[in-house]
Amino acid sequence: MGRHVRVAVIGSGFGGLGAAVRLRREGITDFVVLERADSVGGTWRDNSYPGCACDVPSHLYSFSFAPNPDWPRTFSGQPHIRAYLERIADTFGLRPHLRLGHEVLLVRWDSDALHWEIETSRGAFTAEMVVSATGPLSDPKIPGIPGLDRFPGKVFHSARWDHGCDLRGKRVAVIGTGASAIQIVPVIQPEAARLTLFQRTPPWVMPRADREISAAERGLHRALPFTGALRRTLLWGIREAQVQAFTKWPNTLGLVESLARANMAKAVKDPELRARLTPSYRIGCKRILISSTYYPALARPNVDVVASGLAGVRGSTLVAADGTEAEADVIIFGTGFHVTDMPIAERVVGADGTTLAEAWKDGMESLRGATAAGFPNWMTVIGPNTGLGNSSMILMIEAQLNYLADYLRRLDALGTAGGRAALVARPSAVRAWNDRVQERMKRTVWNTGGCTSWYLDENGRNTTIWPGTTTEFRRATRQVDLAEYEVIRPAGHAKGRTAGKETVR
Ligand code: NAP
Repeated sequence: MGRHVRVAVIGSGFGGLGAAVRLRREGITDFVVLERADSVGGTWRDNSYPGCACDVPSHLYSFSFAPNPDWPRTFSGQPHIRAYLERIADTFGLRPHLRLGHEVLLVRWDSDALHWEIETSRGAFTAEMVVSATGPLSDPKIPGIPGLDRFPGKVFHSARWDHGCDLRGKRVAVIGTGASAIQIVPVIQPEAARLTLFQRTPPWVMPRADREISAAERGLHRALPFTGALRRTLLWGIREAQVQAFTKWPNTLGLVESLARANMAKAVKDPELRARLTPSYRIGCKRILISSTYYPALARPNVDVVASGLAGVRGSTLVAADGTEAEADVIIFGTGFHVTDMPIAERVVGADGTTLAEAWKDGMESLRGATAAGFPNWMTVIGPNTGLGNSSMILMIEAQLNYLADYLRRLDALGTAGGRAALVARPSAVRAWNDRVQERMKRTVWNTGGCTSWYLDENGRNTTIWPGTTTEFRRATRQVDLAEYEVIRPAGHAKGRTAGKETVR
């Protein structure tokens, strides 16, 4: 048996590091952060493609407890965000807790011992509670394309950028037109001899109001921290108001579509190309992308837009679903991530011996985005239906950390009152929560906007997005409602049966 800790956190991106800070602030130091890579940062470590930056302004896309007056741009680039997370690890004394190079292979609930057994690539642990912060954007998805394995050139995914691959003078194919691809295209277009973009569905793209944050502004935020907080509040408030259009009044988004059309018309003069680039679904149904350089890049003479998905590869010839062919030396997949089929779920075995993936075979679902029936003392940060279409995920992560802190306080209280205990979400509570979420989802733009997106699972159910404001989610996760949980005691415990369950009200 390996080392026992009170809490094991999986992942060291914003979610995992945030959880670690919160645990320390709650006075809990008996925890580890298991990270498969050799440094912290999660998606902001893995995505180092040229042009990688955040679409949410930096003063909002940062922890409320760790404001950074020195953000260099309104939308900071990946190197700055990654450096911010490294600083979080230092400033909050997280290094001693980090177990880098520890890939979690299996997590199994031991109903007798009331703890999780964790196998990692570098040894075993047991933990009273597991916080899974593996993130929805951690495992790249490359579609199964016939003939791809025989392509003679280089092939890589946007999140696994091959920095040794010189694109100068090459025929480059970019597959996909999501947030990653549209940042990559303008940066590599001047280098490539020819760039072919395989677009299955055109995105809506709004202008990007990115600028340097002046030295004066930064000085002000440093000298008077409340000005930074004010800036953050303003950015948050605007998005909080905007979300109502996505969740309640999708028809009002037509106006935003005109702005996106104008953004395209400014750069793309060829009406035929404009037609190919114009979406046929409501803006916001897929993530709204922001770029002021994407359309100008597509209008350059060395770029071809194939308005059809990549369907096959024959030697160095790429064949689209509509039969269009293009030659390439390098293929770059901007085809996204395994989101609705969260890969860690395959490795988690709950109280009745089934994996979380089996439990979620008809779609992910949790209680308040965090816990799952059958998986005691298990919590997901950025769990089902906690994603946002228009604001900062850090707000949602921090709300979930409030829930985590309260959960641990409840466990403490139960322990003091009656010996060791674990909590497990009641199936009825999970169902009630998801029914409410799915009911609200019905009128949102994500469900009614006429598109498919990675927000929807293979059954067409939206298991990723939160259909409300961040304030509502924060309120819903401020405290653990014990009526939504069963209390489990160890075998032979005086108050219960074997691994007995109590009802607490
Ligand atoms: P994504 O949004 O899932 O986009 C994947 C793209 O690949 C889609 O355009 C999809 O087309 C396309 N695709 C899949 N198979 C294809 C095929 N066979 N042929 C042609 N195209 C194909 O992935 P992503 O761009 O990596 O972004 C994922 C998420 O990461 C974003 O939504 C965002 O949350 C985050 N992100 C944020 C930023 C930022 O803040 N700036 C940057 C990058 C990523 P369909 O639309 O037809 O499915």
